[in-house]
Amino acid sequence: MSRFFSEKYADLEPYVPGEQPQDQEYIKLNTNENPFPPHPAVVEAVQNESRRLHLYSDPECRDLRRALAKRTGLREEQLIMTNGSDEILNFAFMAFCDRHTPAVFADITYGFYPVFAQINGVPYREIPLKEDLRLEPKAFYQTAGTVFIANPNAPTGYALTREEIQGILEENSYNAVIIDEAYVDFGAESAIPLIREYDNLLVVQTFSKSRSLAGGRLGFGAGNPELIRDLEAVRYSINPYNVNRMTSAAGIASLEHDDYYMKNSKIIQENRRWAGQALKKLGFEMTDSMANFLFVRHPKADGETLYREAKKRGVLIRHFNQERIRDYNRITVGTREQMEQLVRVMEEILGGMA
Ligand code: PMP
Repeated sequence: MSRFFSEKYADLEPYVPGEQPQDQEYIKLNTNENPFPPHPAVVEAVQNESRRLHLYSDPECRDLRRALAKRTGLREEQLIMTNGSDEILNFAFMAFCDRHTPAVFADITYGFYPVFAQINGVPYREIPLKEDLRLEPKAFYQTAGTVFIANPNAPTGYALTREEIQGILEENSYNAVIIDEAYVDFGAESAIPLIREYDNLLVVQTFSKSRSLAGGRLGFGAGNPELIRDLEAVRYSINPYNVNRMTSAAGIASLEHDDYYMKNSKIIQENRRWAGQALKKLGFEMTDSMANFLFVRHPKADGETLYREAKKRGVLIRHFNQERIRDYNRITVGTREQMEQLVRVMEEILGGMA
């Protein structure tokens, strides 16, 4: 730390992203990317748009919001576009939390939430997941704070139903509730239809996972127009050109090819089922994941060892050195071939331990 670093950040513990190795080709199952490339029309749209790079992007993202409004059945004023969904999450911490309104989230959830709270200087309260790592909706009633729930949760993969989310919204009518649906397209129910009824709901989604656009950085928030205006005030005070031209073009083109992405999502769900079964045969235990990853542990092998041994064999998975989940690894669901290789590698590792 230099002597110039603001004292505001003295205690900051930055988020640690999953490894993005540049040295060696791994089977990369550590950051929940989509194994399928973007649709060719997306690549073409990006190439065409790059000719206009000398011009700023549209700060209102009108074409993209129009396309997304059509896709979600919402109105354009109910949508805000951001540079990945991390950005809209940060905006929500800035807009809806303060000294008197703490952020409230599960003790095991997306690791960025406590970091966003810290960097914005807002207090936060963690609500423990149940012993089985499921979230108890009633524990999120009457929170007296701004609620952040990843649904499906990360890294457990467990999802709440829309009805359970509705219960949380009902019981937090004085609080904003942010539902982070980064993984919703792999089999869970979206809360978007509840926006009409609940003015305290902000739904956050990303193009990074089901729409194969992690490298493009595109996310959005959906909610009541008043909430969206607050978030726009924050966005215009930080970076009005937060979504670049090429990413915007990529987003529009990907919405025009929804079938392709939904078909890929079905394949990933089928691969999740297959890999889950195969790993169970090897003695693994796992949560009932509705996301594009599995969250697994083995009674005979410690989580960190499995991670290290898999890496040695060219397969990257994600281990979190965090209490309660140290035994687990999170494994992104990739192609069938990648899953077969993963299972072979795990079989070999466990065989060597016997
Ligand atoms: N929410 C959750 C629960 C996530 O796991 C991630 C991915 N790291 C994000 C949000 C952010 O994804 P992105 O910024 O790529 O949209």
